[in-house]
Amino acid sequence: MCVRSCFQSSCLQWAWRTAFLKHIQRRHQGSHRWTHLGGSTYRAVIFDMGGVLIPSPGRVAAEWEVQNRIPSGTILKALMEGGENGPWMRFMRAEITAEGFLREFGRLCSEMSKTSVPVDSFFSLLTSERVAKQFPVMTEAITQIRAKGLQTAVLSNNFYLPNQKSFLPLDRKQFDVVVESCVEGICKPDPRIYKLCLERLGLQPSESIFLDDLGPNVKAAASLGIHTIKVNDPETAVKELEALLGFTLRLGVPNTQPVRKTMEIPKDSLKKYLKDLLGIQTTGPLELLQFDHGQSNPTYYISLANRDLVLRKKPPGTLLPSAHAIEREFSVVGTPFYVMEYCPGLIYKDPSLPGLEPSHRRAIYTAMNTVLCKIHSVDPQAVGLEDYGKQGAYIPRQVRTWVKQYRASETSTIPAMERLIEWLPLHLPHQQRTTLVHGDFRLDNLVFHPEKPEVLAVLDWELSTLGDPLIDVAYSCLAHYLPSSFPVLRGFNDCDLTQLGIPAAEEYFRMYCLQMGLPPTENWNFYMAFSFFRLAAILQGVYWRSLTGQASSAHAEQTGKLTEFVSNLAWDFAVKEGFRVFKEMPFKNPLTRSCHTWARSQSQWYPIGTRSYSSVPEASPAHASRGGLVISPESLSPPVRELYHRLKRFMEQHVYPAEPELQSHQASAARWSPSPLIEDLKEKAKAEGLWNLFLPLEADPEKKYGAGLTNVEYAHLCELMGTSLYAPEICNCSAPDTGNMELLVRYGTEAQKARWLMPLLEGKARSCFAMTEPQVASSDATNIEASIREEDSFYVINGHKWWITGILDPRCQLCVFMGKTDPHAPRHRQQSVLLVPMDTPGIKIIRPLTVYGLEDAPGGHGEVRFEHVHVPKENMVLGPGRGFEIAQGRLGPGRIHHCMRLIGFSERALALMKARIQPPTAEGREQERGLRRPCFHWSCRVKSRVAFGKPLVEQGTVLADIAQSRVEIEQARLLVLRAAHVMDLAGNKAAALDIAMIKMVAPSMASRVIDRAIQAFGAAGLSSDYPLAQFFTWARALRFADGPDEVHRATVAKLELKHRI
Ligand SMILES: Cc1cc2nc3c(=O)[nH]c(=O)nc-3n(C[C@H](O)[C@H](O)[C@H](O)COP(=O)(O)OP(=O)(O)OC[C@H]3O[C@@H](n4cnc5c(N)ncnc54)[C@H](O)[C@@H]3O)c2cc1C
Repeated sequence: MCVRSCFQSSCLQWAWRTAFLKHIQRRHQGSHRWTHLGGSTYRAVIFDMGGVLIPSPGRVAAEWEVQNRIPSGTILKALMEGGENGPWMRFMRAEITAEGFLREFGRLCSEMSKTSVPVDSFFSLLTSERVAKQFPVMTEAITQIRAKGLQTAVLSNNFYLPNQKSFLPLDRKQFDVVVESCVEGICKPDPRIYKLCLERLGLQPSESIFLDDLGPNVKAAASLGIHTIKVNDPETAVKELEALLGFTLRLGVPNTQPVRKTMEIPKDSLKKYLKDLLGIQTTGPLELLQFDHGQSNPTYYISLANRDLVLRKKPPGTLLPSAHAIEREFSVVGTPFYVMEYCPGLIYKDPSLPGLEPSHRRAIYTAMNTVLCKIHSVDPQAVGLEDYGKQGAYIPRQVRTWVKQYRASETSTIPAMERLIEWLPLHLPHQQRTTLVHGDFRLDNLVFHPEKPEVLAVLDWELSTLGDPLIDVAYSCLAHYLPSSFPVLRGFNDCDLTQLGIPAAEEYFRMYCLQMGLPPTENWNFYMAFSFFRLAAILQGVYWRSLTGQASSAHAEQTGKLTEFVSNLAWDFAVKEGFRVFKEMPFKNPLTRSCHTWARSQSQWYPIGTRSYSSVPEASPAHASRGGLVISPESLSPPVRELYHRLKRFMEQHVYPAEPELQSHQASAARWSPSPLIEDLKEKAKAEGLWNLFLPLEADPEKKYGAGLTNVEYAHLCELMGTSLYAPEICNCSAPDTGNMELLVRYGTEAQKARWLMPLLEGKARSCFAMTEPQVASSDATNIEASIREEDSFYVINGHKWWITGILDPRCQLCVFMGKTDPHAPRHRQQSVLLVPMDTPGIKIIRPLTVYGLEDAPGGHGEVRFEHVHVPKENMVLGPGRGFEIAQGRLGPGRIHHCMRLIGFSERALALMKARIQPPTAEGREQERGLRRPCFHWSCRVKSRVAFGKPLVEQGTVLADIAQSRVEIEQARLLVLRAAHVMDLAGNKAAALDIAMIKMVAPSMASRVIDRAIQAFGAAGLSSDYPLAQFFTWARALRFADGPDEVHRATVAKLELKHRI
């Protein structure tokens, strides 16, 4: 920090406090919260160990599972498995050894998660010194309890380690009685173990208080007459204990610990320095403690002659340029430092504010917002801070600074960081205000009044300067987007904010604008993107320091590895902001902005279509990188064009020739088993890189899962695959798997991805999507009635579904199920999406349905009942009530994929029709003579036909049909490409009109084109000798399967009336 005036010999005031919080005097020299002392009737406090004195196995497991990509909840579920007689409880009673337990437990976890679970590594972490450490707040409480003459006991369900010592990572001297389950052979909640503990304490149940984090253990104690506290977090538990005991347990300085070995500072020179500076005459000691937060700059509590001070210093070692700007006195403590007055109060480290009422939480966040407004309302000139930072261009400077910081500590290339480094300078806000900014404004940098929601002090001003205040607003919303398990900066993106009472980020921004009298902030996504970018750069710095052994926190190494995660969050905001910027451009529609189109000569005759156009909109910074609308495969970028041609060769060499065999398999008795030829072709496609082409670049920007094509690029390839009914599956690009995979990429947790997405991407598993129900008009998804009910750690589903494509396939392992979790919620918040393993008991397939008599084996379209199907809670996608939102996201690109394929159907039908009516080509004749292998099986073998004295090709009506079909295909293709283009440029939501239009147009167009081809073929067109009948059936079915035509027409009309008057 560049706070020149923050340390003055005469006045130990914080710079900011002097400036604008003068009215808050040193009112709280001691904590006022706990004023009552003594008077307790209790004589002992009994502590459970895991979850009370040290972190609970459940908590440790949750973090470990995330880091090891194990489905979340596996460990906890396995710990509970078997109840009294499960491996965990037997281990606690020392009935099995550690080795035996790990063997049995490992098997159980692997069965549950269907993946190998390295339980040894979990066990080592659980019992490691780093994790198994007593919470300082508990150490303090135990000291205070004993100081009041009460007894303390630990009553632990614990176990023997492989070295035969019992696992009790506590100082036994803190307790009068220690009762260990593995020593006694009895476990909580068995009442005998509580009685044993009381007996050893020599007390009646009513004379003691018992703390445990597990409900059954607490219940058992309560039923014996012991007073109990259920522990959710240690801090809150200590408060409850204080209330019961009637005296304070926090006489020390909260949030401090003894100074860490590597962070020690010379006390004598510091004492001398302070005595000289403050003019103190004392022979008393200087008490020194270290605050347990402060990742970058170590912070110390100093008590000297009744003065409570805080010292903050630069960490030791080599530092990044301009980081940790604390420029003072080297000689006293070894690195520059500053000292300030200590302000007692509450610091809320967990931003979800556990243990508080929703109204209290809201008040805390409102107070946070208010104090930020106060900081931003300070007139820098009036308080002498006009030269506290440079004026203007704050954001560009910040972007440059943090890019530099990041580069200086970069250890490997992080794709999202690279994209952000390019994106940020192109999207800078046009207008910026300049005020005093804090630079690191977060809830845990605020000291609150102990009894009311009022901010007493703001900490950590190292990054303060003059700049754009919206940076502070955005930075204070980081927790909204981070998970609660995020190691350094706890968040709450997995919590229900409405229930908690915490304002959502958008509301927090609005609140700020209202208090400041500003118009609503439109570009707050930019500020969020930048804030996460900066956080990523900071984390990278911490990681870099951990590699060079200088980090001030033991978690530094782990912290740095999170850079990539945070940079992805930043990029999500960049994408959203990019769309906003795009939409604000002075054009009404992306495709009407100064396009120029030119024709290119075709080098070679393209048998399926004759397309030769490319249109390129003028580049603008917002979308230049995404290119123009490419309407011909020949105008694709060289690598994608090469991919297209590779696919085309593959179709000609492998797919079309295989069609007759695949078709006869579908008509054979073996049809409900996958065709071995398909599996064979899948391996070939994979080997040629023609695999998972469908995932749009926007959903998978790092090409982690797919080929990284834009929707337009994929449209060309998808059309080509659509010329065969089998190619989409052969290239792992078929519905409904594509939609489900995209759903998992967009919304799945890491554990869900590991379990479901990976096998689907590998083509080992298949999936289905279950929404439609026979009893209700399912074109309106809000009608869905199937119920999803909570029951302990499960959701229980009951419902009747039909037309579930793919559910009969023996490879189908996952059913993405849509049902109602809350019938009383607002209409669009009632539905939820659950991932249901197909081997869950209660799924009863009643029958395969047929489409015009076709079964579409082996996947089929099933009618299914779900009867009391129990699904673990962690299988919920995104959260209860988010089903509608997910279904819409899932069906965005997925639905236009069908349209792309329909263009392929139509091109193939037209090609077949032309081949049928024309004299054979030289190539066809060669094939007939057996000189060449057929390259396009069903078109090459047909002969030209003559009717009523004229070849069909000369009949006027046939020619008119051909012309009509060509025109209709071209129109529909342009509309498909346009929808894909708008999705690429402006996102799925902005493309709603284009998507609805093409869904309205493509199936009917294909039906007409295929129908004309069938007509030209005569009766043969209806047979299964040609793909036309199947194409026609599918095109017709898609007028329902993609939602009925009427629904799309209604959407188009609604949007037309809304926007085009
Ligand atoms: C081959 C095939 C595969 C399918 N695969 C799946 C699948 O995998 N998973 C799944 O969940 N479902 C699937 N479906 C079901 C499909 O999604 C539904 O058929 C579709 O949503 C329509 O619902 P519904 O059949 O209940 O018709 P309803 O909702 O009962 O509609 C019947 C008719 O009412 C009229 N109508 C409806 N809404 C309007 C409106 N707004 N304005 C005017 N008229 C209207 C239309 O004429 C419509 O055809 C599939 C269907 C088919 C044919």
